[in-house]
Amino acid sequence: MLSYALILLCPNLVLQAQAWILQFTNPTACCSLLDSKFPGQSKVYSSSAPEYEELTFYWTPTAQQLPRCVFTPYNTQDVSTAVKLFTRKNCQFAIRSGGHSYNPGWAGIENGVLISLGYLNQTTYDPQTKLATVGGGSRWTDVYGALLPYNVTVLGGRNSDLGVGGYLTGGGISFYANEKGWAADNIGSVEIVLADGKIINASRQRHSDLFRSLKGGSNNFGVITKFRLETVDATGLFNGWYMRYPFASTDAYLAAANSYCNGGSDADTKSHIIFSASIVGTDEMTNVALMSYNGALDPTNPPSVLGSFFDGTVPDPTFQWLAPNGTIKSATDGLRDAQGSGNRYTMTTVSVHVELELLKTLRQAWLNMTTTDLRVTPGFLVQFAFQPIGQTWIAASEAKGGNSMGITSPLAVMWIQLRWDLASDDAAMLDYSRRLISRFEKIAKDAGKLARFRYLNYGDRFHDIIPHYGIQSVRRLQRSKRIYDPTNVFGRLVPGGFKIPGY
Ligand SMILES: Cc1cc2nc3c(=O)[nH]c(=O)nc-3n(C[C@H](O)[C@H](O)[C@H](O)COP(=O)(O)OP(=O)(O)OC[C@H]3O[C@@H](n4cnc5c(N)ncnc54)[C@H](O)[C@@H]3O)c2cc1C
Repeated sequence: MLSYALILLCPNLVLQAQAWILQFTNPTACCSLLDSKFPGQSKVYSSSAPEYEELTFYWTPTAQQLPRCVFTPYNTQDVSTAVKLFTRKNCQFAIRSGGHSYNPGWAGIENGVLISLGYLNQTTYDPQTKLATVGGGSRWTDVYGALLPYNVTVLGGRNSDLGVGGYLTGGGISFYANEKGWAADNIGSVEIVLADGKIINASRQRHSDLFRSLKGGSNNFGVITKFRLETVDATGLFNGWYMRYPFASTDAYLAAANSYCNGGSDADTKSHIIFSASIVGTDEMTNVALMSYNGALDPTNPPSVLGSFFDGTVPDPTFQWLAPNGTIKSATDGLRDAQGSGNRYTMTTVSVHVELELLKTLRQAWLNMTTTDLRVTPGFLVQFAFQPIGQTWIAASEAKGGNSMGITSPLAVMWIQLRWDLASDDAAMLDYSRRLISRFEKIAKDAGKLARFRYLNYGDRFHDIIPHYGIQSVRRLQRSKRIYDPTNVFGRLVPGGFKIPGY
């Protein structure tokens, strides 16, 4: 235990001492130095620029921060020039791709420089290698759209508004996950700008240690400007839909969910289900199975692994298409539109090894706490959701070389999603989400079913993530840090995001 703590904390004591001694350069000076590097090209926008408001718009106002200036690079060389400058001058900055993180300061910065990668958004496809090259600031809707004419697609966000940068460096759960593993494990190579401005390509063949570290390593190593992604065939049909059930069907619903989590997702890897229970406002309470199937679907004769959700085993379903016999683009655009934007928002997560009694206890704890501890406020939505990471998913990821996340046995990722309208309710909502997840952890731990893993992309700013990858992964990440970011630029100067212990 002690040695674990030492390994986690010690490697960077010298760097931390340096950070205390070094002063950050005034952000105004950083912005004008940056501006002088790009004369006449309007790549650096101050708060008085007409573009500033749009460039600092986030899908949730909870994430809003006001940088001193926004830098919008048009190519990798621009990113390199900027990062070199920030390192040399000790300028604090943030990196933003789609800006879909709800944690304030993760893809934004108060008073520093924001690198907004939105113009690095080209997608190309090479039929020879079957790889798609995708700019580090793209959104999935554009990526899917650009690949449609080639009848291929890639593993990406289920909500098409997400950016590729945060999603892929956090792991990435896609509709193809049961068959193909984490989206990050389907990256062929990345182009990344390191702290000294060097541009390198990392893959399983070159800089393989860094390549593996980036899958779950978030923004700790550099700015990724291009992802080369393995593609999958998209000539067939793709289906996405909701099944809704009343709270009265909860027991049967949880029994079916338990069965899908314990073997179902492995038995038919073309299927994919997110289970959730939602309370919306004062009167809407529903259990939802958000399903997809990579293939044709006839609701009157569904694949057997989905049977109990259609045949009355879980009573009183309402069926609603997201994308009937469509494409991955239509399904994920549908989810984007359904999930909307503009509300205040947070998410928090824990992972468990699933069994039916545990699911029942956790769901009851969620219901009790939500109905007793939370006042219904304008825009109120509280959702308890989970989905399995089964054996086929883990094996598919391992077969591609593995990642940083350290998952070795099946589990379910659980998350709580909260949405509300008023900033005055922030404190109550965040406090509730913190207490609920602690309660979940205690219940799962007492049952001997708490899993170590926490999913980075569903993490909140109050809880560590990377220590939950396990000691082997943390050691590997620390090793990569020493090689690729030896002065800890992406820890010291990039304050936002989940950091590697000791950095
Ligand atoms: C409504 C909703 C639906 C979601 N659905 C899914 C889902 O289906 N599957 C899933 O896995 N996750 C999902 N997520 C979580 C999502 O993956 C994360 O929020 C992710 O960070 C979004 O990616 P982004 O590029 O928009 O992130 P941003 O907010 O731009 O960035 C997030 C973090 O990544 C870093 N980063 C971004 N780009 C780069 C880069 N190019 N180089 C280095 N660092 C970078 C940023 O600095 C920041 O710390 C969902 C979230 C929401 C709110």
